[in-house]
Amino acid sequence: KKQITRLPEWLKTPIPTNNNFKKIKNDLRGLGLHTVCEEARCPNISDCWGGSDKSAATATIMLMGDTCTRGCRFCSVKTSRAPPPLDPHEPENTAEALSRWGLGYVVLTSVDRDDLADGGARHFAETILKIKQKAPTMLVEALTGDYAGDLDMVNLVATSGLDVYAHNVETVEALTPFVRDRRAKFRQSLAVLNAAKKAKPELITKTSIMLGLGETEEQLWEALKELRKIEVDVVTFGQYMRPTKRHMKVEEYVTPATFELWRQRALDMGFLYCASGPLVRSSYKAGEAFIENVLK
Ligand code: SF4
Ligand code: SF4
Repeated sequence: KKQITRLPEWLKTPIPTNNNFKKIKNDLRGLGLHTVCEEARCPNISDCWGGSDKSAATATIMLMGDTCTRGCRFCSVKTSRAPPPLDPHEPENTAEALSRWGLGYVVLTSVDRDDLADGGARHFAETILKIKQKAPTMLVEALTGDYAGDLDMVNLVATSGLDVYAHNVETVEALTPFVRDRRAKFRQSLAVLNAAKKAKPELITKTSIMLGLGETEEQLWEALKELRKIEVDVVTFGQYMRPTKRHMKVEEYVTPATFELWRQRALDMGFLYCASGPLVRSSYKAGEAFIENVLK
């Protein structure tokens, strides 16, 4: 049976026009940086890049290429068993470009590289180290994979000088096998977040959950309880959006009111802060939130 699905009003987004956004976009030209914000045409770009000042602006950079060794059912990144080798100059060049750009908060993320012995952890850690050398005031969040459960690699990244360690559980435990690549496990992701916190207790740990995949309220409560048990500091909720027909379908468009309800519930459970909304991505205004909730 054919189904006509129309996007609800709250998912239709305006075109970014903000002045600060334009300025940052101009700054970016010639730096050779590729932001996920631009490449994924993220609807939040004027919110993240165009905040009240540049020192709170957030951008997300993808490291280690555009080809992932995994194939999650919600993700549009291309997949290969053997992606091209890492660019050994990437840590240095990324740090140099970011320091010239001078934004306040950078989220470094990457594809999963199960083909590399260390999953790319050393490359990731080196990039963070170099950024902190060249731009000591820049706040750095790393959004990493699970390193196939190798907690030594988590340790390496967690102690590289970053400010926020993010790893996404993406969904509730019961749906994990249907949503994420089969190598990803809910418990393994908890172990990653736990190891990051243990490696450096003052580190902010963070995770993200997509709503609208068919999760029940009870399953979501359970996931949040598990995350609080291991002292995860920050959680974000966003609507799952199907990238193409080949990806899993949306079970539900969660209303803005329900997102707000979960934000409130997360805060009541002791999460330090929570971004929650239909268009929220895990990096949504992360700089502003960090400055308001951690630095002040
Ligand atoms: Fe996409 Fe990350 Fe899954 Fe790779 S591991 S397919 S980049 S969500
Ligand atoms: Fe960039 Fe993330 Fe903000 Fe989107 S939500 S504009 S990807 S920092």
